Amino acid sequence: MKDVLTAPWLTEMVRTCTNMYAHGWDERNGGNISLMLDEEDLSEYLDVTQVLRTFPTGFSAPSLDGKYFLVTGTGKYFKNVQYDPAANLGLVCLADGGTNAELLWGFSDGGKFTSEFPAHMMSHAARLEADPINRVVMHCHPTNLLAMTYVHDLDEIAFTRTLWQMCTECIVVFPDGVNVLPWMLCGTNEIGEATAEKMRTARLVVWAQHGIYGAGKDLDETFGLIETAEKAAEIYMKIAHLPLVNTITDEQMHLLEKRFGVKAREGYLE
Ligand SMILES: [Zn+2]
Repeated sequence: MKDVLTAPWLTEMVRTCTNMYAHGWDERNGGNISLMLDEEDLSEYLDVTQVLRTFPTGFSAPSLDGKYFLVTGTGKYFKNVQYDPAANLGLVCLADGGTNAELLWGFSDGGKFTSEFPAHMMSHAARLEADPINRVVMHCHPTNLLAMTYVHDLDEIAFTRTLWQMCTECIVVFPDGVNVLPWMLCGTNEIGEATAEKMRTARLVVWAQHGIYGAGKDLDETFGLIETAEKAAEIYMKIAHLPLVNTITDEQMHLLEKRFGVKAREGYLE
């Protein structure tokens, strides 16, 4: 068997956590990531029949039964992942209809998966229905997106349109827009179910006064999605208090749709 620490999916996860911390999106133990892996990704590195510990998940997710996830640990700091991946990350396989998670590697100091595990797993199930190549769910606290939820209308069309207007590339990167949840208690099945419901129609879900969830086919794409929305929110926070002289018009948005072969979410443009 090869060393798990040399697996490309592990090194990419470590780099992503480190980069997100460097962006200031994951203060203290803020943020969590889950990456779905296929059995062929693992076979060179692990005996997947060797279960180290079993955790009840507190929910059921039949469509994810037998699926493997590399996931960040509860109470762990993104800044520390690079120094001790085996303590800060864990690889689990969902079993018994998703009601149990079997630990195959990691959480070496006795830890377990993120407290946002329900939101992650329910979001994976929802995204896989919408997009079978989805592999990543990522949560973090990007400064400007969070700030924007204090001063901008939380209506999803209004919020999305403002972000699209802040940078030309936004409508190209997230034509499906941004869905928004009002403030809810985090770490619960309720916010997990609400997030998953929102994930059916968009890959970005803002948690008002808290942060954002993103989903995508790999770590780079999901990081880039959040990065682009956060950049737009940064522009917004720089200009929101100034008189608006110019913007990107809906007519120009339609030109972007044509040029880049994307379709803006139905009803979001004039
Ligand atoms: Zn959070």
